Amino acid sequence: RKKMSRQKSSETVRVVLRCRPMNYREIAAGYEGVIDLDVKLGQVCVHNPRSAPGDLSKTFTFDAVYDSNSKQMDLYDETFLPLVDSVLQGFNGTIFAYGQTGTGKTYTMEGVHTDPERRGVIPNAFDHIFTRISRSQNRQYLVRASYLEIYQEEIRDLLAKNQNHRLELKERPDTGVYVKDLISLVTKSVQEIDHLMSVGNRNRSIGATNMNEHSSRSHAIFVITVESSEVRDDGESHIRVGKLNLVDLAGSERQAKTGAQGERLKEATKINLSLSALGNVISSLVDGRSTHVPYRDSKLTRILEDSLGGNAKTIMVATVGPAAYNYEETLTTLRYANRAK
Ligand code: ADP
Ligand code: MG
Repeated sequence: RKKMSRQKSSETVRVVLRCRPMNYREIAAGYEGVIDLDVKLGQVCVHNPRSAPGDLSKTFTFDAVYDSNSKQMDLYDETFLPLVDSVLQGFNGTIFAYGQTGTGKTYTMEGVHTDPERRGVIPNAFDHIFTRISRSQNRQYLVRASYLEIYQEEIRDLLAKNQNHRLELKERPDTGVYVKDLISLVTKSVQEIDHLMSVGNRNRSIGATNMNEHSSRSHAIFVITVESSEVRDDGESHIRVGKLNLVDLAGSERQAKTGAQGERLKEATKINLSLSALGNVISSLVDGRSTHVPYRDSKLTRILEDSLGGNAKTIMVATVGPAAYNYEETLTTLRYANRAK
């Protein structure tokens, strides 16, 4: 039984791990690395820096692991491309980056737009989608984009003129949960959709006193809807709609531990709520035996409900840093990701 559910889940939920390189500060400080990756076996081994080498190390296996030499295009071609293809075929999909702040979530999702080598999955998906469309013969495509943020369980439309407005979740019996009044703009080229992402990113920083802190406490969701139609021999037009959610999650670090109080503590609780709700949803999908998937427990999981489970495909990229001082958080991330397999 266990085996069957695993086979089923491997088609719908894939979990990959990515370890970023040591940065200059870490190299200069002479930090020890505690992560060993076996790319062939898809395994990661973490060593407890407080114990003897080889002692108390823990091993986890994922669908793939990417070491510090991995290129953005390696991840795209091997891991993300099939999911984006399935969106073009009318399925829903979600890609999200999970991990401690500073480990490469934004690098993986967005990367450096202007550098083809360092562009993340979002700009690479833009390219992929519009290239495919330009080569299509008989199909008509319509691509729309939305960009939203969840901060303290409040939803903000990053493409809206008025950034003080908060959006509500509504539900329709036929189509399920949706974000009321969320702007959805038709884009006809890579340049146009890229521009929307930049506008959204600029809006994201409005009102934030410290952008780094803000982005580490909020979830950003870029949504691409691809609708296509084809007139077949029977003279009828056949329509397919696929939706791709690209999610840069809030930092997974345990905020409460760092002595947060008042507003900060409330905020921390809400961040952890969404992340643990997401973990619960995914693990119950993967388990295959649970009859109840707890989508209702957070705004994040409600928004993603139609793109997690069912026919939808999900990829979770767990990001970690290699240095010893991150050991505890790294282990927490690996355990979270491990639950999702
Ligand atoms: P997060 O979004 O998880 O807080 P970032 O994506 O902002 O983390 O990454 C932190 C820093 O590390 C950035 O300067 C980023 O460019 C760099 N970085 C992250 N992952 C990689 C990687 N795989 N290769 C090279 N640099 C990386
Ligand atoms: Mg980030």
